[in-house]
Amino acid sequence: MDKANFDNNPLNTTTKTNDLQLSLLDEMEDLIYISNPETYELLFVNKGFTDAWGYNPIGEKCYKVLQNRNKPCPFCTNHYIFNEEIGKTHVWELKNEVRQRWYRCSDKAIRWHDGSLVRFELASDITKLKETEFLLKDSKEKYQMLFLSMSEGFAYHEAIYDTNKHPIDFIYLDLNPKFEEFTGLKKENVLNKKATECIPGIEKSKSNLIEKFGFIARDGGESTFEFYFEPFKSWYNISVFSPEKNFFGTTIENITEKKKSEQKIKETLEELKISNQELEQFAYVASHDLQEPLRMISSFTSLLKKNYHDTIDEKGKMYIDYATDGAFRMQNLINDLLDFSRISTRGEKSKLCNCNEILDNILANLQQTINETKTVINNKKLPNVYADQIQLGRVFQNLISNAIKFRDEKLPTINISCEEKDNEHVFCVADNGIGIDPKYKEKIFVIFQRLNNRAEYPGTGIGLAICKRIVNRHKGRIWVESEINQGSKFYFTIPKHNNDER
Ligand code: ADP
Repeated sequence: MDKANFDNNPLNTTTKTNDLQLSLLDEMEDLIYISNPETYELLFVNKGFTDAWGYNPIGEKCYKVLQNRNKPCPFCTNHYIFNEEIGKTHVWELKNEVRQRWYRCSDKAIRWHDGSLVRFELASDITKLKETEFLLKDSKEKYQMLFLSMSEGFAYHEAIYDTNKHPIDFIYLDLNPKFEEFTGLKKENVLNKKATECIPGIEKSKSNLIEKFGFIARDGGESTFEFYFEPFKSWYNISVFSPEKNFFGTTIENITEKKKSEQKIKETLEELKISNQELEQFAYVASHDLQEPLRMISSFTSLLKKNYHDTIDEKGKMYIDYATDGAFRMQNLINDLLDFSRISTRGEKSKLCNCNEILDNILANLQQTINETKTVINNKKLPNVYADQIQLGRVFQNLISNAIKFRDEKLPTINISCEEKDNEHVFCVADNGIGIDPKYKEKIFVIFQRLNNRAEYPGTGIGLAICKRIVNRHKGRIWVESEINQGSKFYFTIPKHNNDER
């Protein structure tokens, strides 16, 4: 309708705004104002308006009052309602920055008392609606982002039942990229299709997914389980839930690699257990069976030395000494090996033992060596711990005798202490001896590994391997901190709690 038509419309010319109409507008909750399109002066505001603005602004410029501007608003709708949309209502939404509220405005040209055309605006406060809309949009966007970027596969389905309400199939309604990646199913191929069409054989699969899913969609609840899915030859961890009757969501994780490595670890552990048992058995049998012939060698060489002492020349005596020494060393080796092999098989159950008493016994055993070498032993008060008393004593004995054996020209000093840390007791046997090159700090705990020559420092190379086995059997750790010529600090831990699961 153009302006001429508007003016010619009897409805518009005769329907001039009168006081009764204006007083009716006062009753409305919405905000209403009438302004002069030439001067922008407010000619009328209703009660809703004065209530919202807190005063009556009649006579003031609409752009000043409504938008706190000094000239007409760039978004003013006058050009619509007085020109191309004359006679029509122009509806639009805006946020009023002065009041920080959202309004839906309905603007229209109407006839004023004096017959002039004026602007009529009715503004409904839609702030609440807008806020909900924003929240919804925001959560929709967040959901979409999560859906697309989540590290689990997600799919939404509708369950299908037979007439007895027994699940027989389901339909894919939506799925995210990870679901595609984990299953190899493509969204465009499966959307709105039945599972039995998309995954041939699903109904026969042992995991019985159709039933499991269908029951949850029918009866509610949720479930998380791991299963091997034959059609995809993969393992999955899946969570199923039903937010709506007959519908269900699934989040899946492909755990095939994890399962494979778990299986591998299990197999390796089993193999290790068997080979460990075999090794223990072998070490035990070998050392046990070697004792007898060795005893024979030792006793006959001693007899030889005793009975033929006068008839054997010096060279012969030297050979006999070598043989006796060899047999003696072999005896030690066999004894240590036997001890080593018995750690797991002949160990006692852990009980609370007093480490001070254990240490006193060991020091008493080593008294002669301690005296001969003038070793100074400083020991702090030690705690009570859950352990196999004999084996713990063995650890102290090996570490202390090494600390004495691997001394340098200084008088040997050994400090024995223990600290509590988190869930364990950390014991330390520190010496001021020859020290160890840090590059060998792991190697020395391996059986038969020795760093020094036998003539200077006798030994079998089994002592620390025994310590390590004992400590490990107690679920503890053992390590050394040392530098060459700087002494050594051997640490080992014993858990505070009795975990006698050995
Ligand atoms: P052994 O004492 O019979 O040689 P161990 O298994 O007890 O065997 O020790 C392995 C090696 O670790 C030793 O040969 C030695 O080289 C080194 N070692 C152990 N304890 C100490 C120590 N307190 N100071 C320096 N070196 C040590």
